[in-house]
Amino acid sequence: MGSRIAVIGSYAVGMTISTERFPQEGETVKGKNFKAMHGGKGSNQAVAASRMGAEVLYGGCVGNDSFGDGAIKLYEEEGIDSSYIIRSRENQSTGVGLIYINAKGENEIVIDLAANFELSPADIDRMLPEISKCKLLLMQLEIHMDTVLYAAKKCKELGIPVVLNPAPYNQMPEELLKYCEFLVPNQTEARAILGLDEDSSLSDEEVAKQIHKLGVKNVIVTLGSEGALLVNDTMCKKIEGIPVNAIDTTGAGDTFNGSFCVALAEGHTIEDAIKFANISAGLAVTKYGVIEGIPTREEVIKIAE
Ligand code: ATP
Repeated sequence: MGSRIAVIGSYAVGMTISTERFPQEGETVKGKNFKAMHGGKGSNQAVAASRMGAEVLYGGCVGNDSFGDGAIKLYEEEGIDSSYIIRSRENQSTGVGLIYINAKGENEIVIDLAANFELSPADIDRMLPEISKCKLLLMQLEIHMDTVLYAAKKCKELGIPVVLNPAPYNQMPEELLKYCEFLVPNQTEARAILGLDEDSSLSDEEVAKQIHKLGVKNVIVTLGSEGALLVNDTMCKKIEGIPVNAIDTTGAGDTFNGSFCVALAEGHTIEDAIKFANISAGLAVTKYGVIEGIPTREEVIKIAE
């Protein structure tokens, strides 16, 4: 308990509205059930890590607007250290995602990550003395790639393990893979890293082994309900997920990553950390919503015992 970990990443407000059908160009249609929800992969993963019992240092950039205030309030409520969150210096809005859902349950989404892209290598430099007191650094790809690369490189130099969830997938410089002690893609992202289509016939094992050959020490491919696959120098092993009645799988990956890092930072083996993350993410899919679905450490431990 009480391990300190650093998370650097994105915050965005997801705004959903239900409508009978999507509007045509130039048309206005009526909607209902409007909801604004906390999101952004970095933020979700920081919340997951904090609920799993870690002391979380979070770095990101939000706007000077009410959404940005909402993010800071969330971190206060969740007990996350937000002293390195930057408010936009370029008058950018907080990241937002606008989601229309039609009567068939289909969606149309427009996102603007806005202020998230302002987080720069200079901001990482300011955070480094605090990051160097952490057990590891967790990142994703919803901020500027140069910032991710810089933070990973600095942590490698400092001997701080980097866990990268390469989501949403974006072309990564090969150099970045060498700085990552752990790469945690889902099945689609894993194939994209190798330039393969998501329906490529290559098995998950083959995909993970090929990514390992690119220079990543530990590759963990999440497999949805089936759990996760670990490939490193000494093993290629599938670690089963827990059987649950899945209701909403959004945020499963974020819960997995945040929880995995906490168990790892506490000194558990990689396999045990994956088992812990499978339980946590399995519980998350039994509830609607991302933040609402992330379980507490106590709920996870109860099942683990
Ligand atoms: P998302 O984008 O929906 O957040 P993802 O595609 O990044 O998720 P997945 O591989 O689908 O990631 O799921 C991450 C983890 O969540 C899995 O490794 C597993 O531990 C857990 N999980 C996901 N779906 C289920 C399920 N139906 N039953 C049990 N566990 C699940």
